[in-house]
Amino acid sequence: MDQFSADLFAEYRSHFTGGLARLATGAVFPAGYQSHAATETCPGHSTLLTGNRPAHTGIIANTWIDQSVARPKKEVYCAEDETRAAADPKDYVASVGHLLVPTLGERMKQHWPAARNVAVSGKDRAALMMGGHVIDQVWWWKNNGFVTLDGRSDVPAARAENAAVAKLLAKGAPALPLPAFCAPREGAIQAGSATVGTGHFALAAGDATAFRASPRLDQATLDLALKLVDAMKLGKGAAPDMLAVSLSATDYVGHATGTQGPEMCLQLATVDQALGAFFAALDARGIDYGVVLSADHGGFDMPERQNRAAMPQVARADAALLPKALSAAVAARTGLPAQGLILGDGAAGDFWVKADLPPPTRPAWWKQRARCWPAIPRWPPCSPPRNWPPRRCRPARPKPGH
Ligand SMILES: [Zn+2]
Repeated sequence: MDQFSADLFAEYRSHFTGGLARLATGAVFPAGYQSHAATETCPGHSTLLTGNRPAHTGIIANTWIDQSVARPKKEVYCAEDETRAAADPKDYVASVGHLLVPTLGERMKQHWPAARNVAVSGKDRAALMMGGHVIDQVWWWKNNGFVTLDGRSDVPAARAENAAVAKLLAKGAPALPLPAFCAPREGAIQAGSATVGTGHFALAAGDATAFRASPRLDQATLDLALKLVDAMKLGKGAAPDMLAVSLSATDYVGHATGTQGPEMCLQLATVDQALGAFFAALDARGIDYGVVLSADHGGFDMPERQNRAAMPQVARADAALLPKALSAAVAARTGLPAQGLILGDGAAGDFWVKADLPPPTRPAWWKQRARCWPAIPRWPPCSPPRNWPPRRCRPARPKPGH
């Protein structure tokens, strides 16, 4: 479950009555921590079924900068084939090429040639990183239906699920009933440009974006998984099969409305029931199965709601941290060309410095860097160096009128 942190599980544990309650009767590790730095979806999913950290899986972020790629756009998405030009830069060619290690499903296929390896998700990067390279079926949500890798053929199970979702999208759907335990979380909050805290997932006809950020995406993902179970007779063959399902809606709901509102409460209550129905369907088929549930990372609540919860210091990321603004700021101080000086995925991601600065301009960069980080001390130091730890970079002098 995408963004299903140990905190959220602990918070709602006593309210689960469906699949999550059933799983809680098994072995539970209530304090979940990650031992890698970039807790994003792609690195997280690359660790779940490989037993490797991102430094080894090759999936170090959702998006990174590779200044050696031929195209003008140097951002590389973790689950794309950047060597294949797409008609629209946003409409990349999905690929698992960046994953450098085998997944559990691939290892099972190696050990038991009859084993099937299947992955389904609301996100391409989640399905691909849990499935790996050698995969029998891999499906993820894109725009308004489930799709697979380029060059692979459609299957009746996916066609049937896409038809069911299309019907629902065309008609729209009423708000979901709010469980009583969610009611105390109701309350409108102005979060940036959006109002959150009152959403119950009413679906307007044709609104695929709202569908995606709702429990209905998880229900559709589980429906497709079950259709594939039936079509492929998973769990009924001579060898064990691997079915990896990544439920993405918790993450989409968390990003859109935060983690502490009625929306997240409703999302978790719904996915709990959907998982219960999914397990019951596997039981009804007489399948002998084991379930492991985990998450790729956690999430923060909206800063505005955290402010109300006596955390006045919580704030939105400063727009001055965006690569374009940082480039302009560094360029203003150094005289370097601002264009593409600092590259990155935004305030929450990593930053890169333009690799091909013209040689005469490089000293300006180093001088600027030295202003923030005085001489790196000898290591190991004989005694603590006088200028260590480094002093903070001096803030820019405010412009008059600001
Ligand atoms: Zn995620």
